[in-house]
Amino acid sequence: MTQATPHRPRLAVAGLTPLTSLDYPDHLSCVVFLQGCPLRCGYCHNPQMLAPRQAEPSEWAEVEAFLERRRGLLEAVVFSGGEPTLHADLAQAIERVHALGFKVGLHTAGIYPRRLQTLLPRLDWVGLDVKGPGADFDRIVGRPGMAAAHERSLALLLESGIRFECRTTVHWHDFDLASLQRLALGLAERGVAHYAIQMARPGQCLAPRYAEPGPGPWHADALASLVETLRPAFQRLELRR
Ligand code: SF4
Repeated sequence: MTQATPHRPRLAVAGLTPLTSLDYPDHLSCVVFLQGCPLRCGYCHNPQMLAPRQAEPSEWAEVEAFLERRRGLLEAVVFSGGEPTLHADLAQAIERVHALGFKVGLHTAGIYPRRLQTLLPRLDWVGLDVKGPGADFDRIVGRPGMAAAHERSLALLLESGIRFECRTTVHWHDFDLASLQRLALGLAERGVAHYAIQMARPGQCLAPRYAEPGPGPWHADALASLVETLRPAFQRLELRR
């Protein structure tokens, strides 16, 4: 009898960071960036990763070959993007990474909650991007209907018991300090224990106006002061510049 050949995942790989201690808490990891994202955040510093494309079979094979060589040296593999949950073969790739002995983390904006629900039992840690509060979410990502989807993903994560972090990238075009404070406290009230505030990187941005210098309220001291005000609301709160 002929045995079916196992299907290798096909994933459009946009890049790979071979070693980082920043992308999966308390673990040495690598990051696999997947091509394609339906959102259009003005501050996006990876505009070259947004357009989806067909994957070549060799792309994932090369990632697996890299992971084979890193067994015993790395502890975790993080899938990032782009929006990694866009990819139908992600679940299969996660299983193969587990079979190689690594933990698996996921960076996502939570815009495909049904796919996230399928992935959750396979994941060890999730970093969930919270783009903005309520109705501002869709404005910040440039696409309607995303806030409701993200809300379902946050609820799934809170119910799941899986370790996760919420993170918000802040740019002065999208936030003032008061709205950032409201967003953070709202997450804490929901039960989010780990939160990170990430400053948008100047320079290469999807929308050119996001490269303009910001006004006074984003002075470093004011933001640091807000973070200290928020600190008691979370088990872990980080400011990433
Ligand atoms: S910053 Fe926004 S547009 Fe850019 S990859 Fe992330 S979610 Fe997509």
